[in-house]
Amino acid sequence: MTQASGPAARTPLMSLDEARARLLDGVDGPLGVERVACFDADGRVLAGDLVSPLQVPPQDNSSMDGYAVRCADLAAPGSCLRVTQRIPAGHSGRPIGEGEAARIFTGAPVPRGADAIVMQEDAAEIPDGAQTLVRIQQPPVPGQWIRRAGEDVARGAVVLRAGTRLGPAQLGLAASLGAAQLDVARRPRVALFSTGDELVMPGEVPPEAMPPGAIYNSNRFFLRALLHRLGCEVSDLGIVPDRRDSTIAALRSAADHHDLILTSGGVSVGEEDHVKPAVQALGSLDLWQIAMKPGKPFAHGRVRRDGGGAAHFIGLPGNPVSSFVTFVWLVRPFLLRLQGVADVDPVAMPMRADFDLPKGDRRREFLRARRNERGGLDLFPNQSSGVLTSVVWADGLIDNPPGRSIAAGDRVSFIPFQELLA
Ligand code: AMP
Ligand code: MG
Repeated sequence: MTQASGPAARTPLMSLDEARARLLDGVDGPLGVERVACFDADGRVLAGDLVSPLQVPPQDNSSMDGYAVRCADLAAPGSCLRVTQRIPAGHSGRPIGEGEAARIFTGAPVPRGADAIVMQEDAAEIPDGAQTLVRIQQPPVPGQWIRRAGEDVARGAVVLRAGTRLGPAQLGLAASLGAAQLDVARRPRVALFSTGDELVMPGEVPPEAMPPGAIYNSNRFFLRALLHRLGCEVSDLGIVPDRRDSTIAALRSAADHHDLILTSGGVSVGEEDHVKPAVQALGSLDLWQIAMKPGKPFAHGRVRRDGGGAAHFIGLPGNPVSSFVTFVWLVRPFLLRLQGVADVDPVAMPMRADFDLPKGDRRREFLRARRNERGGLDLFPNQSSGVLTSVVWADGLIDNPPGRSIAAGDRVSFIPFQELLA
């Protein structure tokens, strides 16, 4: 069957933005909440606002090793003060009086009466019998080298909003406020399977013994890794044989225990496969032809659960790069939204193209590109949707509008993989 005579060829193309919006509209509120130790919360999504129970820093403290002083005592250059106490971090001192200085260390609370810190490099200690004097060369400015109480976080301030993805910095901040546990969205449960009788698992058959037409299942590996990075619990159901009964059985048992069933392969035009009729038999299915390249065919639906309700179903195209690009553009925001993340859009940056692309595709195209040391972008020469080496070589995607040719020197919109893979 040629593409022009296939039923999907007559289906008008849907824009990627519309496909994304429809997919996100289908998310029926975030998943349930669970409490986890801060230690285990990396990558999870905060379920409620985190409000600070205290101010940070808790009191005025020194940002230098030096001397806590009263500026009024030091109007003249080279004035001397009596050193009457020593305040290491973690200890509080006594108030200082006229003519006195406190030896102080970074992080130690500034004693009452002091209004500036003189760093030790700008002071000289002079032993004087039983007491110690310190000479200060330059008159200090009030407030110098003092970190003010609450200057980082005010008590009662919302420091992390619900829907924030927790990373190293967020966990450090939560811990600095005394949080040992955090309420986060539970992990999405995803059942993953690949379709296609041509697929062989690495390790099952050595490369030299691969039968004609057989290929290794690569999608399973990157999809699993992508899902893990998005905080999902993955049930890997492996390769489902191209038979209707096995496909129905796999879908039915997966629906009960999962939020999403994700498959790759078998959604293209004229495909002889059983995923589509199986999903239709167990629920509903929309087949979209998305105006994007790579990645045109895409399936979205629901698989009913025996106990009521339904699991989401997403069918990705089989070509590895198509699968990869549709995942990062559609499945990623879907899974983040399922966990309550409000802002699921990757940040694109304008960059200079250091290549020519004489003929733009009629679909919005995601070109595999890499930043060079001249501050521009190079293009991988083979942009075919089966060429996984292009994704390995690249460090991001150029988002090129339909029909747009590119000349060297043009500004293009580049999305680094850091924005898409985590
Ligand atoms: P399909 O979408 O099933 O028509 O597959 C399109 C192309 O992608 C075919 O060449 C398949 O052999 C290939 N393909 C499908 N699934 C996978 C997979 N899991 N790993 C690697 N290649 C695949
Ligand atoms: Mg197939």
